[in-house]
Amino acid sequence: MNAEPVVAARGVRMSYGDTQVLHGVDFSVAPGEVSCIIGPSGSGKSTFLRCVNGLEPVLGGSLRVLGEEVGYTLRDGKYRLWSPKRFATFRMRIGMVFQRFNLFAHQTALENVACAPIHVAGMPADKARELAVEHLAQVGLAEHAHKRPHQLSGGQQQRVAIARALAMNPTLMLFDEPTSALDPELVDEVLEVMKKLALDGMTMVVVTHEIGFAREVGDTLTFFDEGVVVERGAPAELIADCKQPRTRAFLSSVL
Ligand code: ADP
Ligand code: MG
Repeated sequence: MNAEPVVAARGVRMSYGDTQVLHGVDFSVAPGEVSCIIGPSGSGKSTFLRCVNGLEPVLGGSLRVLGEEVGYTLRDGKYRLWSPKRFATFRMRIGMVFQRFNLFAHQTALENVACAPIHVAGMPADKARELAVEHLAQVGLAEHAHKRPHQLSGGQQQRVAIARALAMNPTLMLFDEPTSALDPELVDEVLEVMKKLALDGMTMVVVTHEIGFAREVGDTLTFFDEGVVVERGAPAELIADCKQPRTRAFLSSVL
C-alpha cells in the first residue's frame, strides 16, 4: 500500500519539564489500519497519543498526522507546534476516547453527542440532533438517548463517548485504554463497538491491555517501553513469537 500514512512518527521526543518521556518514537499507521499499542504503565503510550492530536508539544523528531507535520522545526533544531487556532481545525478530524469517559454530567447522551457538531463545527441544532441519534444507534444506544450519564452503566457511557467522537466524522480515532476503567462484564460491549468501527474501515490507534482484541481486530501490535517502540508486528505473530525479552516479559504478565 503506497497511500501516505495517517500517522508517521520518526524519532519523536517529548519531555515534561526536565523529565524526558518519549525518547525517539518511530511509529506509523496506514489508512484503514487498526494499530494496537501495549506496554507497561508509564511507558509513554498516553503521552504519545496526546502528541498525535497536538495536546502535548513534540520536542524533536518528526510527527506527521493526516498528511501534515503537526509542528515545525526551527533553525536551532527545536520543534514548535502550530498555533492553537490551527490545532482547533486539525483536532476536529481526530476522535479521542479516554479511559474515563469524560461525558458532560448535566447533559443527556444525545446532548453530549450533538454538542461538538453544534458548538465546534457550527452545525444547525436539528441536524446535529438527528445525526446524534444515528451515532447513538451505531453504538447500540438509540433507546438511551435521553438519559444522563448517571443513568447509564460504565459500558454505556463509554459507548456514548465513542458516539460523541464519531459525531465529528473523524478520519482517525485514538483510544486510550477505553475499557480499563470498566467492570469486567462491561468490557465486551465496548470492544464490540470498536470492532464494528474497525470493520467499517476506520483508522484506529488503540492503547489497550485487551490482548484478545489486539489479536482479533488489530492489524499491527506495537510494544512501547520506556518511551520507545521496542517491537512491532502482526498481532498473532508478535504474541506467539516476539523477539525482544522486554516484550516477552510484558506479554507473559498480561496473558
Ligand atoms: P502510559 O500511558 O504508558 O502509562 P504516560 O504517557 O501517561 O504513560 O506517562 C509517561 C511518563 O510521563 C510517566 O513517567 C508519567 O509519570 C509522566 N507524566 C505523564 N503525564 C505527566 C504530566 N502531565 N506531567 C509530568 N509527568 C507526566
Ligand atoms: Mg496511559
